[in-house]
Amino acid sequence: MFRSLLPSRSRVATVSALTVLALGVPGTGAASPAAPYDRAVSTPREDPYYPAKGDPSVDALHYGLDLRWAPRSRTLTGVARITFRSPVAQSQVRLDLGDPLRVRRVTLDGRQVLFSHPGKDLVVATGELAADSRHVLTVSYRGRPRPVAAPTRRSDIPHLGWTTTRRGAVWTMQEPFGAFTWYPVNDQPADKAFYDVRISAPTGMVGIFNGRLTSRRTSAGRTVTRWHLASPAASYLTTIAIGDYVRYTDRGPHRLPITYWLPRGDRRALPELRRTPSMIRWLESKLGPYPFDRIGTVVVPSDSAMETQTLVTMGARLMADRRTFRSDLLHEYAHQWYGDTVTPESWPDLWLNESFAMYTQIRWEVSRGWATMAQWRALLTQQDQSLRDSDGPPGAYHRGDFGELCVYYCGALMLDRLRGLLGDRLFDAVWRGWPQRHRDASVDRDDYIAWLNARTGRDLGPFVTRWITAATTPS
Ligand SMILES: [Zn+2]
Repeated sequence: MFRSLLPSRSRVATVSALTVLALGVPGTGAASPAAPYDRAVSTPREDPYYPAKGDPSVDALHYGLDLRWAPRSRTLTGVARITFRSPVAQSQVRLDLGDPLRVRRVTLDGRQVLFSHPGKDLVVATGELAADSRHVLTVSYRGRPRPVAAPTRRSDIPHLGWTTTRRGAVWTMQEPFGAFTWYPVNDQPADKAFYDVRISAPTGMVGIFNGRLTSRRTSAGRTVTRWHLASPAASYLTTIAIGDYVRYTDRGPHRLPITYWLPRGDRRALPELRRTPSMIRWLESKLGPYPFDRIGTVVVPSDSAMETQTLVTMGARLMADRRTFRSDLLHEYAHQWYGDTVTPESWPDLWLNESFAMYTQIRWEVSRGWATMAQWRALLTQQDQSLRDSDGPPGAYHRGDFGELCVYYCGALMLDRLRGLLGDRLFDAVWRGWPQRHRDASVDRDDYIAWLNARTGRDLGPFVTRWITAATTPS
């Protein structure tokens, strides 16, 4: 996630013995629900900061979404086929789904089941489910999606989730939550899943999602696209955009496929986006091999940006300052390593994303000669105490101040100090090693400290804990 700055300037999945149901998932082309989703087996949990979002009753493994958008009536018609694991023996499950969307039918393993939908809670009466059993839930719904309020004072994030423009185009940014504004979901970061998505929009518009575009057809006045996300993702890292877009392609290091989606008639950002191959090359030189099978960017009418997995969502209004746009593009790409492949299990550990993405952005700006490390160090040191006072420390920020500057700056200063402690060589090995050793993982503070200690042979727990939890700047 982007943070406006002074000018330019994340348990690896436990695979348990499973009771597998040999049910195919019709219509999305996904293979039998059993084996292919093991990489998405997670330990869902209640979020300590936003407990009303997400639920530990569901371990989503795969979302098959079939979406039809009618811009004139602002109506979304959807069918979600959710392959999930029941972590415990239970007889009901709960998902998040925005209340403007009306549920019409719910089936479990092909059998119609009862449900209720008070507010944004979709509660499904499943009958007895065995612990670790897998099932397919199908939810048919329809309505006029609306965004929800964000737990922050940030002016660049007025709301979260599905946003419809005056012309009926669509985009979303949904961190820490908001995916539930357009599909039924366990909207909590500890639960990663695979996605296959079909989007039908009127001709003249195209539906865009994360991952690989597997087909695009126009007929009978509709354009239908299909998308496959080949890596398990947390729900806040999915994106959707529907509108009159033009697609551009590029190639990154080791022939990495790159795609840019720009609104028709607005190519201003294209020259900046074309820097993606060199940015990925630089990031790989610091953080190791890129963790996914493709990368790209979709530009939407926003003041902010999001590190959505394999397809970053960039606000067009950031182009007001080319350097800001460029620096933030690098920041969102850095999140593919720090946040997307290794993801915090819960929101108090947002620093595991933002402190590292911010630090990587700083190192990149210094490598461009935009500033010196000494200048950044002076700025971060000067600001640290006042940010702790206003936002709370990076690992214990005020939950109503999501994504405030403390998780960026105070955590980046900690990493700069850690580099001083460890020396350049060992620090760079740690900076690179964490995402490489934790692909597809969900983690917390203790996981990071345990790994850091093992990697360095030092007890750095007190150091990290002090930096991310102290009310005053550690001396
Ligand atoms: Zn960020």
